[in-house]
Amino acid sequence: MKTAHSLDQLPWTNDFLELGDEFYSMVTATPLRKPYWVHINAAVAQHIGLSATTLRTDDNLAIFSGATPIKSSTKEIPTIAMTYAGHQFGGFSPQLGDGRGLLIGQLALEDGRLDLHLKGAGKTPYSRFGDGRAVLRSSIREYLAGEAMHHLGIPSSRALCITASKDPVARETIETAAMVTRTARTHIRFGHFEYFHTQHQFDQVKQLANHVIAQFLPEKLDQDDRYCELLRYTVKQTARMIAKWQSVGFAHGVMNTDNMSIIGETIDYGPYGFLDDYEAEFICNHSDDTGRYAFDQQPTIGLWNLNVLAHALSSLIEKDHIVKILSEYEPTIVEHYSGLMRAKLGLSIQQKEDYTLCAKLLHLMEQDRVDYTLLFRRLCDFTIASNNAAIASLFQQQDGFDEWQQDYKDRLQQETDSEKTRQNKMKQVNPKFILRNYLLQTAIDKAQNNDDFSEIDRLMTIIQSPFDEHPEYESYAFPPPEWGKHLAISCSS
Ligand code: AMP
Ligand code: MG
Repeated sequence: MKTAHSLDQLPWTNDFLELGDEFYSMVTATPLRKPYWVHINAAVAQHIGLSATTLRTDDNLAIFSGATPIKSSTKEIPTIAMTYAGHQFGGFSPQLGDGRGLLIGQLALEDGRLDLHLKGAGKTPYSRFGDGRAVLRSSIREYLAGEAMHHLGIPSSRALCITASKDPVARETIETAAMVTRTARTHIRFGHFEYFHTQHQFDQVKQLANHVIAQFLPEKLDQDDRYCELLRYTVKQTARMIAKWQSVGFAHGVMNTDNMSIIGETIDYGPYGFLDDYEAEFICNHSDDTGRYAFDQQPTIGLWNLNVLAHALSSLIEKDHIVKILSEYEPTIVEHYSGLMRAKLGLSIQQKEDYTLCAKLLHLMEQDRVDYTLLFRRLCDFTIASNNAAIASLFQQQDGFDEWQQDYKDRLQQETDSEKTRQNKMKQVNPKFILRNYLLQTAIDKAQNNDDFSEIDRLMTIIQSPFDEHPEYESYAFPPPEWGKHLAISCSS
């Protein structure tokens, strides 16, 4: 795509507006006072057709800190807050909606449409008791998370930039305000359908379903079974997304149905966490007392959420079909997760015992509190002829690991790839770097305390190519130091 000279030259549109005003409220952002740039994501800027330098102007700072709307060459693009509902921690909230984020425009790019959403843009009719703001801490977390996930091969929103100001924002302590502009192929959530279904606005359910089908399944638009195909698409995409989360050790933290994208992209990063030590029941969200969204619960919660979505689509799809389509979730997620884990182990041939081999390894890792990312990265250097001391040293119970490595060697003997080929392939799927909480915390502390955003820059480098060696960033691949283990991440953002 050609690089444009300014933001207004981009192909702006907003087809969500055409749905009608039951679907959103027109809202003007409440700007940050004395805003400044925190960071611009050059890769996303480029994706939308601008260079980071072109983006970094005072006029654009005003746009991305909420002072002015985006203008295309012909008109101003209206800014809107979307209406939706959602199941939060299992309970239904009939009216949620964008309480602090606005859809500020949509781009018709060559590879499809892309929403731009300004988070922290001030109060909306859906703010309830909230202040409409986002703090710098959580904005940095969201900004980096989307980028990390994208480069791990996981569909995700990606942020374009962060702006900030010294405006105080009250959370557990007084923090300062920021706005993150994120891009996503859609911001339509399961909760959108729940809203209209529970309001008995079945025409709107249909209209919204047609809208999603037109964008993502255009070839099905004229088919009688198009709503079945929509549900099937969401089921499959959600299963694949969660399989990927499990394989990289990502815990979302708040899998409420209002945070589930209809196209199975990861959105709404709050108190998420990547595993350090392997712990199946890891709970990243400090406020999740019952562990509803614990790491190992995510696949089940995915299905629970899809059941909610299916119910919201029940005016369009017959029950028998719903049951059949939902039953495709489990085999899809199992198949994808197994494939991803086999690849992590360097197994290109599929065998029945692979499941046990993987489960045994995870069990040993959990017993000995072995770092998930580090173990799989070291496993890329596993050789059949040696005793693999560097890998063994990560375990406390040597007998357990020795037994496992013997099984693994036997299994590898059945592979046809050479050792070198296997090792190279494994390095393409086992990241060296993940966005660990302690790394994020360092970047946040520097930004909050010293207006020093350089750590965001460094993290950007490693998360944008997490499979590369980056020898100059060796320490960023280390597991957390004592202070950085089990950092309490709360819901407040
Ligand atoms: P979340 O769990 O962060 O996705 O948010 C759930 C709902 O609360 C959404 O409708 C958000 O827009 C809304 N919300 C979260 N934080 C705030 C805030 N500070 N001000 C207004 N609304 C908020
Ligand atoms: Mg949300």
